[in-house]
Amino acid sequence: MKNFEYAGADTVERATMLCAENGTKAIAGGTNLIDLMKLQVETPARLVDLNSIDDRRIEEEEGGLRIGALASNTAVAVDQRIRSDYPVLAKAILAGATQQLRNKASVGGNLGQRTRCFYFTNIDQPCNKRDPGSGCGALTGVARIHAILGASRHCIATYPGDMAVAMAALDAQVELSGLANKSRMVAVRDFHRCPGYTPELDNILEPGELVVAVHLPAPVGGTQLYRKVRERSSYAFALCSVAAIVDVKRGKIARADLAFGSIAPKPWVDQRLTQLLVGEKPNMALFEKAADILVDGARGVGDNDYKIPLVRRTLIATLCEATEI
Ligand code: SF4
Repeated sequence: MKNFEYAGADTVERATMLCAENGTKAIAGGTNLIDLMKLQVETPARLVDLNSIDDRRIEEEEGGLRIGALASNTAVAVDQRIRSDYPVLAKAILAGATQQLRNKASVGGNLGQRTRCFYFTNIDQPCNKRDPGSGCGALTGVARIHAILGASRHCIATYPGDMAVAMAALDAQVELSGLANKSRMVAVRDFHRCPGYTPELDNILEPGELVVAVHLPAPVGGTQLYRKVRERSSYAFALCSVAAIVDVKRGKIARADLAFGSIAPKPWVDQRLTQLLVGEKPNMALFEKAADILVDGARGVGDNDYKIPLVRRTLIATLCEATEI
């Protein structure tokens, strides 16, 4: 690990001012950043510790909930209001990492976690995300965990997390604060970026801008599921995942909010699925059609081709479970 300066910030305003300076990174739980610093993938000249900022509360607001960015993943997953009204979020968080990591990891940090692409984390390998213009090792290398949707010829990495997938299904909003206290709200669905020509940019944060909270909408009810397919049953990233909020009323689907993890550079939402499903009677032919739409345009690079049938089957299984057919 390279030497770095350490600075504390006890207000968002001071943190944004410090983080706007080149070579500066914010740290909260550090469960991803410290690993990357040990590997010299991240080499910040200065870390700004956010932990003295008093914003780890989970508070009711306008029928929904505001979750402070410094709330731990564990605090969110065990909150009784989240367990009862937003179970998809509690399930997604508990499907990720380990208890020790969830105790340390913050909500803001979880949104900002970086890809687990093997070439990104190995500084001896080419990687356009880590070193723009150096090439993409995964395109011709080991790409088993990589994206089948939303990728570009410059990067095929996935966003690896679980929490944000559930937040995307819930259509949660991220509250950001930038220089001079400039605030804005962005849908979780729009927070992460597809790589295009600039894979080094994971998300839409401006220099100095920080996540200060996530806002959940009023509870929507329905059956809420998080199905995660992985190579072992704990402490493993998803090969694909589905967050589903599905409600059936009088024999017809009244709500079908879906988001997918680990198949794209961001939590993947395809509104065509909701449009197809809502108003219809649940049945296997309908679910097969939804799965076809989801993977329409999906493309692997060989190693990850298996994800196309895998996410199809995972979606169908999740819809069958949610609608009890
Ligand atoms: Fe780097 Fe993206 Fe290619 Fe992985 S897939 S090596 S993160 S450019």
